[in-house]
Amino acid sequence: SRTPVGFIGLGNMGGPMAKHLIDNGHPVIVHDVYPEAMTSLEDAGAIKASSPAEVASKADRIITMLPSSPNVQEVYCGEQGILSKVKAGSLLIDSSTIDPAVSKEMAEVAAKKGGVYMDAPVSGGIKAAAAATLTFMVGGKQEEFEAAKELLQFMGKNVVYCGDVGSGQAVKICNNMLLAIEMIGTSETMNLGMRLGLDPKLLASVINMSTGRCWASDTYNPVPGVMEGVPSSNNYQGGFGTALMTKDLGLAQNAATATKSPTPLGSLAHQIYRILCNKGYPLKDFSSVFHYLSEEEKK
Ligand code: NAD
Repeated sequence: SRTPVGFIGLGNMGGPMAKHLIDNGHPVIVHDVYPEAMTSLEDAGAIKASSPAEVASKADRIITMLPSSPNVQEVYCGEQGILSKVKAGSLLIDSSTIDPAVSKEMAEVAAKKGGVYMDAPVSGGIKAAAAATLTFMVGGKQEEFEAAKELLQFMGKNVVYCGDVGSGQAVKICNNMLLAIEMIGTSETMNLGMRLGLDPKLLASVINMSTGRCWASDTYNPVPGVMEGVPSSNNYQGGFGTALMTKDLGLAQNAATATKSPTPLGSLAHQIYRILCNKGYPLKDFSSVFHYLSEEEKK
């Protein structure tokens, strides 16, 4: 029988990802600080663990899918963390989007305990997580890549080796900076068109056969009712939280500062998303920037 796989962090992304491992015949041991996040996985056959340490004592391949850098540091290095119980040779794959410097730090401390840490953040959103069509951007030792890919392929259609540990995060941060810029651009464009009297479905369909087309316009349109099955048509619930996007834009700005790269639109996007967080949108999907921009003037 197969050795169990550990999965820690069962939110919007981790939940459906862990489910694919179960569906592909892996015994899966799950943990989340929020107990209700484990219920549906337990119903699907997963074993519950009460701490990351317990997961590490039972599984020698572990995937983590947590919100941000401090959560990853806690889950790996905390008192009840993975590294307190990690078995030598264990493969530790972190798919959270975090600071590449923290990924490097985790790889170092893991190596001291005999663990092999790789960063493997994802792109694709909740639909791709549910359909197992995510893109994984993997950083770490090249000789460990095949072992990581063997597991990640059950959750994604593209598993790409990006270089040393932290490289996956570097690619991810660049992608998400562009994603935020295109989402804001799509939102302000759609709002302008609607105020010009255009039907948003018509406008989106013409943009999507024209040069303005992008993922935010053709796959994840921010205007309620233009597309089905996207957060904008569900009161901006689920999806990719505005607070998480703001975090990613902050990581991009740190990286831009460190490398002295001019990123004027990335910087502006960060500020716009920060304002959204302060205006009551932090837990809404990041496409809610359309809702914010389209608010009517108060008479
Ligand atoms: P989420 O907030 O829905 O889920 C995170 C889960 O981690 C929650 O269930 C939370 O309870 C759990 N958690 C937090 N701290 C923990 C701890 N110390 N121990 C155990 N569990 C803990 O977030 P998400 O949308 O699933 O995103 C996860 C990561 O993936 C983030 O880094 C995000 O930036 C990235 N990401 C998200 C999307 C998306 O579309 N949602 C897409 C690509 C990448």
